[in-house]
Amino acid sequence: MLTIGLDLDGVICDMVGSFLPEAKRLFGHDISQNDLSDFNIWEVTPITLEQSKQIFENDIFLSKLRQVRDASKHILTLANNAIIHIITARWEDRKPATTKWLHDNGIIYDKLSFVPSSQKAEFAKQNGINMFVEDKYSTALGLAEVCPLVCLMDYPWNQGQLPKNVYRFSGWSHLISHPLVNAVLLITKEMQKKSPLDMLDIFK
Ligand SMILES: [Mg+2]
Repeated sequence: MLTIGLDLDGVICDMVGSFLPEAKRLFGHDISQNDLSDFNIWEVTPITLEQSKQIFENDIFLSKLRQVRDASKHILTLANNAIIHIITARWEDRKPATTKWLHDNGIIYDKLSFVPSSQKAEFAKQNGINMFVEDKYSTALGLAEVCPLVCLMDYPWNQGQLPKNVYRFSGWSHLISHPLVNAVLLITKEMQKKSPLDMLDIFK
């Protein structure tokens, strides 16, 4: 069966949308999402790494995060056609807070794995991920070498040229209505008898 890998923060969970108001509340930093030209917030804004960790490691903060617009609704559509494997670079000690958040937000999924960004591509290869939805630019480039289709959620921090099997989407509504994604879902049954990499033929 088709297996879809989903990143969590920036794809399902609107981490930055809640992180920036929290950084303002706690430390007085007034930063907009458009200021985030790099994924490492502490490298491109006055927010320090220590301050970032202080926010990220707070389970109460994690429990209150909003989901990316319409994520649960459209992930349900994917789940009706594929195995959903959430692969996040959060530290595994965030697992209880993370599973609770997924449950509370009605996110349907089959598997949840905690994998550092630098190891996501190898993990995706080993787990036969056919399609991956990600928001980190460098991770998407690595995934493109092992996954037939990579969907990049568009943000200021992931701008740059993309390989031909990486597509940029403005959000879940855009992704779910795209002919390419629909084609991938429609061919699920045919793909059940083939290896994941056979799907590469579809994009030639
Ligand atoms: Mg992410």
